[in-house]
Amino acid sequence: MNRAAVRVGVIGTGAAGAILAETLCRQGHVVEVFDKARGPGGRMATRRHAPWAFDHGAQYFTLRASRLVDRARAWTAAGVVAPWGVHGREEETRWVGVPGMNALARHLLEGVPVRWQTEITAIRRVADTWRLDASSGPVAEGFDRLVLALPAPQARALLGGLGDWDRRLGEVSMAPCWAVMLADLATTPAPPPAGGERLDDPLLAWVAHDAGKPGRGMPDQTWVLHATEAFSRAALEHPAGQVAERLWARFATLKDLPEHPPGHLVAHRWRHARVTVPLGEPCLWDAGLGLGVCGDWCLGARVEAALLSGLALADQLMGHVAGAR
Ligand SMILES: Cc1cc2nc3c(=O)[nH]c(=O)nc-3n(C[C@H](O)[C@H](O)[C@H](O)COP(=O)(O)OP(=O)(O)OC[C@H]3O[C@@H](n4cnc5c(N)ncnc54)[C@H](O)[C@@H]3O)c2cc1C
Repeated sequence: MNRAAVRVGVIGTGAAGAILAETLCRQGHVVEVFDKARGPGGRMATRRHAPWAFDHGAQYFTLRASRLVDRARAWTAAGVVAPWGVHGREEETRWVGVPGMNALARHLLEGVPVRWQTEITAIRRVADTWRLDASSGPVAEGFDRLVLALPAPQARALLGGLGDWDRRLGEVSMAPCWAVMLADLATTPAPPPAGGERLDDPLLAWVAHDAGKPGRGMPDQTWVLHATEAFSRAALEHPAGQVAERLWARFATLKDLPEHPPGHLVAHRWRHARVTVPLGEPCLWDAGLGLGVCGDWCLGARVEAALLSGLALADQLMGHVAGAR
């Protein structure tokens, strides 16, 4: 640990938490990351159901900020991202993780200690440091700085009514999305020319030929459907099986397929999928408390927003440490 290094706890291994943790580690800080999931990526998700795998969260991402365009070249060289189809200018490139969407977060977190399946239920200030608790009791303590890289409602719950931040996080809005994963289809539709297709439909907003993404090596056709915000809100508490059948039936009608359901038909509910009202600044940082919050919801509904938010908070944190030397 170098002389000016600090011990940082990070909750969340989505795009925001992963790039922040990687940046701080590179600067020699001692970072420990926690996630309630079994693996990295958050909403940049890959769900495996052998022999298939599905990107059931983010479908692709674009990178327009120059600091990320440079990083994309390095990630391409490392083989963890690849362009999906050709979409004109470089900033319109649709990037996907390889072999699955979560590959980028996995790559960023290489060498960073992460405790998986660890849901943090409370954060406490103990003698100028932070302690993290799970429902079973204390998880880790002694962090000089703490970062919550979580969707706004989950960060707000952990912050427990912290002054002005509580009001500001309460103004952020996120919409749900039901996703459906399909494989083992009796009849397969022709894949859309761009790999994915936005639909003007009351039930389905997006369909993607998932197996057609680069580096998937999938033995079979796999598809991902995303419901519209209106349908997702209306069916938020419906059983997943019922939602899967409803959205499959709609897909079959739209693509003129026999209604017989596919061998693999699974729905996943994203409760906090897309940002509809962002915070409007890259991150929140309280130097006095050594506490920061980041995530896509700070800037917008995209992976790039999450990456920029994580980098902005890393800048703040490192600037503060450097200033305190
Ligand atoms: C269906 C869907 C489609 C999308 N499509 C696109 C797209 O095509 N292009 C695009 O750019 N973006 C898309 N997005 C948005 C994109 O996925 C997000 O903007 C981005 O991945 C958010 O990253 P994040 O790090 O801010 O948060 P997240 O990815 O949500 O990461 C938060 C992490 O925190 C963990 N966590 C939460 N609470 C706790 C806790 N209490 N303790 C421990 N860990 C916890 C979670 O497990 C998760 O790993 C889509 C999202 C969804 C859901």
